[in-house]
Amino acid sequence: ERDFEHGGEETNINVVVRCRARSDREVKENSGVVVSTNGIKGTTVELSMGPNALSNKTYQFDKVFSQAADQGIIFDEVVAPIMGEVLNGFNCTIFAYGQTGTGKTYTMCGDISDVLPPPDHAGIVPRVLYHLFNKLEVEEIENSVKCSFIELYNEELRDLISEDDNAKLKIYEENNKKGGSATMVQGMEERYLKSAREGIKVLRAGSDKRQVAATKCNDLSSRSHTVFTITVYMKRTADDGQEYLSAGKLNLVDLAGSENIQRSGAENKRAAEAGLINKSLLTLGRVINALVDRSPHIPYRESKLTRLLQDSLGGRTKTCIIATLSPAKSNLEETISTLDYAFRAK
Ligand code: ADP
Ligand code: MG
Repeated sequence: ERDFEHGGEETNINVVVRCRARSDREVKENSGVVVSTNGIKGTTVELSMGPNALSNKTYQFDKVFSQAADQGIIFDEVVAPIMGEVLNGFNCTIFAYGQTGTGKTYTMCGDISDVLPPPDHAGIVPRVLYHLFNKLEVEEIENSVKCSFIELYNEELRDLISEDDNAKLKIYEENNKKGGSATMVQGMEERYLKSAREGIKVLRAGSDKRQVAATKCNDLSSRSHTVFTITVYMKRTADDGQEYLSAGKLNLVDLAGSENIQRSGAENKRAAEAGLINKSLLTLGRVINALVDRSPHIPYRESKLTRLLQDSLGGRTKTCIIATLSPAKSNLEETISTLDYAFRAK
């Protein structure tokens, strides 16, 4: 077991777990419940691994949500604090990580009808848009908000906003005046938003576009990542008339299914060569571990996803990983892998 103390230093990476109810199929197949949590919102996950409690395995996380935790609780407990940081000018990222079918897309998008306030099953993106525009209005902050929506599949980027279906996006580094560099995406469309409804429409159109492609390509939906990014430019005026400019960014990432990286040893090498391992998902784990370990070298450059998110991971940023789980025995092996990955990121 590795040591995960940081000498009291606060890490800017939060890891929470969300376990859904058994699906109809899991119930019909009589797959027992092997995941237990303490209350709607607790801090432990316990796995039943054998004939009695002695073989149980427990994990601690910042927050653990049971099947009774609805979309509103996830927003209030996990997302709202991060939104506050975005309005304070931080770059933040929220990831949904987990096995296919455990609720990543439900958590990130859920019901994306453009009804406001967002309906019960609306996930993080529509709720963020709604609360963001409300807050900017209530606090009378002059603003400009824009969004982008892209998909990453087999280390290739595709624009989910662009009308051009064949547009391939290219990532490049641009040096800025301060001597640093920023990652840019050539040809990526950005939409300026005047309201939450406009943003939800972009999300819907992009999700539809993704769905059309997924029906043609079998493993697209389980092996691709989507990134919905909201950038907010703000101008606040103090009582003395002084103007303060700031900008914050929020990346909302629906990751590829975690079953795409869980192989080890010799098998790992063969699987990697056969393209069965998702490079971006694997590298994301390494980047997060390196950040948690305060390693001098963070391997951002080793995958498209981590290059893309480089200015929003590490340093003055906040990151949250929501690990999604199935409670069923038939998924126990993947559940352990998900929890191990998530635990290492703490
Ligand atoms: P993933 O994106 O991880 O593959 P989905 O988000 O598509 O998984 O979820 C699979 C199914 O389970 C969907 O029908 C979804 O609506 C449902 N689901 C997942 N999590 C929940 C939840 N917490 N509450 C209600 N339904 C859920
Ligand atoms: Mg999904």
